[in-house]
Amino acid sequence: MDLYLDRLLNLPNTTVESFTEEENKITLKLRFLQDEITCPHCNTHGGKLKQNRPILIRDLSVFGKIVYLNTPRRQFYCQHCQRHFTEKLPFVDWERRYTQRYEEYVYQRVQSASVEQVSRDEYLSWDQIQGIFNHQFSLKKKGSSGFMGISTANSNQNPLGATVTALPCRQ
Ligand SMILES: [Zn+2]
Repeated sequence: MDLYLDRLLNLPNTTVESFTEEENKITLKLRFLQDEITCPHCNTHGGKLKQNRPILIRDLSVFGKIVYLNTPRRQFYCQHCQRHFTEKLPFVDWERRYTQRYEEYVYQRVQSASVEQVSRDEYLSWDQIQGIFNHQFSLKKKGSSGFMGISTANSNQNPLGATVTALPCRQ
């Protein structure tokens, strides 16, 4: 829709189709620029799109408003190995409902504030904030194994021992 908006959003192969605005909330409707993706089972490129069931993903707030991304969740059929698969998003961990950068933000916030405080500021429940913190914490403990999208974020964070200040520090 808008090249500048896409650049600000800064997510790979993604464009903003439209947005809606409510009182304190902006929802951006996203579209992916690649129609064909690689099958995770056999590595053949060019699965056939079977269906799209968009999901709402929470992202970092802008201009004092909370942001949701109406994100395609696309299911493909691979004609080569005849299997179905769901596209993995490079900016959202599997089965999460928050962008990686948002989870990273919440993780850092919880360490300098409290779960209650962040929950109030972010309009999310205590359980949701605690869930994000736990998810990020377990990722950091595991290092970058398995999550391609996370590995770049982790490589910036791991050297800083500060990421585990919530626990007794080994230094
Ligand atoms: Zn396949």
